[in-house]
Amino acid sequence: MNQQQLLKFLGIPLIFMGLISIGSTPAQANDKELNLYSARHYQTDEALYSDFTKKTGIKINRIEADDNALAERIKSEGSNSSADVILMVDAARLWRAQIDGFFKPIHSKYLESRIPANLRSKPDAEGSTWFGFSTRARLVVYNKAKVNPRDVDTYEKLADPINKGKVCTRSGAHPYMLSLIGAMIERRGEVATEEWAKGMVANMARPPRGGDTDQIKAVASGECGVALTNSYYLVRLLRSNKPEDQELVSKIGFIWPNQKTTGTHINIAGGGVAKNAPHPQAAIQFLEYLASDSAQQYFADGNNEWPVVVSVKINNEGLKLLGSFKAENISVAAIGKNQISAQRLLDRAGHK
Ligand code: FE
Repeated sequence: MNQQQLLKFLGIPLIFMGLISIGSTPAQANDKELNLYSARHYQTDEALYSDFTKKTGIKINRIEADDNALAERIKSEGSNSSADVILMVDAARLWRAQIDGFFKPIHSKYLESRIPANLRSKPDAEGSTWFGFSTRARLVVYNKAKVNPRDVDTYEKLADPINKGKVCTRSGAHPYMLSLIGAMIERRGEVATEEWAKGMVANMARPPRGGDTDQIKAVASGECGVALTNSYYLVRLLRSNKPEDQELVSKIGFIWPNQKTTGTHINIAGGGVAKNAPHPQAAIQFLEYLASDSAQQYFADGNNEWPVVVSVKINNEGLKLLGSFKAENISVAAIGKNQISAQRLLDRAGHK
C-alpha cells in the first residue's frame, strides 16, 4: 500500500496530503502548468526551463519581452493577469516591480535558507518579496595599447582627468548604470557620487550608446580607452571560438575594480511570484527549483553568471578565466531603492 492508498484507507481526505509534505523541503504543486513572464534575454535559459518540466511535469508557458514591455503588460492586465512568475534582470528593475505591486507575499524556508539575505528583497509592508537567483559583476575593460591598467583600477578613477577622452559607457538611463550609481550613492553619498559622475562625463570619448558588448568592441577598436561591462558579456567573448572575437579579446584587458577598497559592484537576475498568480503553488515550486543545485549550475554554465547559493560548485572555463574577486557588500535591495536618485543625479551631471 502506498502513501496515497494508506491515507484513503484511513479516511484522511487527499486535500491534506499537500500539508503533510510541507516542511523546509521544496514545495510540491498540483498545478500542471505555469505562466512565466520573463525579461531574461539569454538563449541558454532553454535548458533551465525544460529541466524543470522534465522534473515536475509542469508545463511552462513563456511570455518573453524586455522589462519595460513586460511591466506595461502586467499593469494593463491588472488583477486578470495570468502571470505566475515574473523574472527580471537587475536589482533596479526588481525594486521597481515590487513598488508597482507586481509580487505576492510568499514564505519559503527553502528559498530563505538557500539565498543570502543581501541578494533578495526585504518583504514590503504587505509582505511581497523577490529573490536573486544569479549574480553578475560590473567590470572595467580597457585597451591594452592605450591605457595603463593602474589608471583604471577603480570606478572612481574613471572620473580622473588622466582618463580624459577615453571613457565610454552605455546610456545613463539603463538599469545596469543606475544600479552601479545606486551602489555608489549607498557607499559614498549623493554629493561625492555626483562629482564623480560629472568627472566621468567630462572624460567621455563619445556620447553614451549601445549595449555592453558594443562598449567592449569600441575599446578593442581603440575608439574608447576604457569602458564598463557586465561580466557575462565579457565571458561570452572570452569563450568564443570565432577568430574575430579572439582578435577582439587580444586587444583588451579587464579589471575587477575597487579590489583594495570596497569591492566590485555586483548585481542580480531574480524574480518573484506574481500578485494574482493563477498557479501560486507551481510558481513557488519553480522559484525553489531555480535555487536548486542543478538550476544554479545552469545559470553559471549557460549565461556565465555566478550561482547565489554559496555551496554550489561550478565548472565554467570562462568564469575560471576571470578568476576570483572581492565583491561589494551592499544589499541589492538598497541598490534598487536608490535608482530614482541615481537617475536624477546622472541627469544633473549631464550623463545621457
Ligand atoms: Fe544583460
